[in-house]
Amino acid sequence: MSYPVQRLRRLRGSDTLRRMVRETRLHRDDLILPLFVVEGSGVREPVASMPGVSRFSVDQVVDEAKRVYDVGVPAVILFGIPEAKDARGTGADAADGIVQRAVGAIKSEVEGLCVITDVCLCEYTDHGHCGIVEGERIVNDPSVQRIASSALSHARAGADMVAPSDMMDGRVAAIREVLDGHDFSDVPILAYAAKFASAYYGPFRDAAESTPQFGDRRAYQMDPPNRREALREMRLDLEEGADVLMVKPALPYLDILADARREFDVPLAAYHVSGEYAMIHAAAERGWIDGERAMEEALVSIKRAGADWILTYAAADLAAKLG
Ligand SMILES: [Zn+2]
Repeated sequence: MSYPVQRLRRLRGSDTLRRMVRETRLHRDDLILPLFVVEGSGVREPVASMPGVSRFSVDQVVDEAKRVYDVGVPAVILFGIPEAKDARGTGADAADGIVQRAVGAIKSEVEGLCVITDVCLCEYTDHGHCGIVEGERIVNDPSVQRIASSALSHARAGADMVAPSDMMDGRVAAIREVLDGHDFSDVPILAYAAKFASAYYGPFRDAAESTPQFGDRRAYQMDPPNRREALREMRLDLEEGADVLMVKPALPYLDILADARREFDVPLAAYHVSGEYAMIHAAAERGWIDGERAMEEALVSIKRAGADWILTYAAADLAAKLG
């Protein structure tokens, strides 16, 4: 049976009907807000390429965390920008490192908020790569040791969940082992499992001061055209003990997300990254699109493709709007 018996417009006729047949809904509980933490006190420094996003000192990030939890965002993910960087990324696993102090402060002040930490070396290394460098090579296994050590230091500081973003082979297994060996078997791992070498990370690198000083990240992050390989990456991370899998970026990789939704039973996260966020704001500032609607449409598409969690810089604004 088709037209004229079937008329799909019948269920689109009013806002109420559209609400009743809506298949996908954004909810506050889907949202995770990334936060950048810097040294100092009283610092709230806007990031030029990311309207509405700031870098906070530890005292200020506590207030911001409180504010976003109060509007209903259940979780934040922390990125640290240390004062000093070196070749081995010493600050990444320092007990008094920037992220470790921020976790401690937020956990003691904002009860109930889930504090996730991004685990990587790139914000802490003077060369800006996500691992240990020998010559021009980023060497896998020594990097994994440093990354696992960072995850442990975050757990010791009180992190509710750790999220390795480096894309080294074997890091999830190494993190699981070191956490379990130190009485942190309850701390889940959110693995940046399919993270692509993307042009959309530009504004983040300004915010996190993590631009590689030589070369690029294509020798460890994934090549954008590869779909089957993304499933292999995710399957391996699951086998190594990941609790949640992430696809990053989100919009250019919705097919990967949909594949993962069919393939795996675990919660899936997607990172709507800085460039995706910045493009919407830039076009809206020029009056070329309705920024608020475009943002919501982008985020609902990520959920429709299969994500349970969305990491987005729009989390607090959207949560406030969703009520
Ligand atoms: Zn990194």
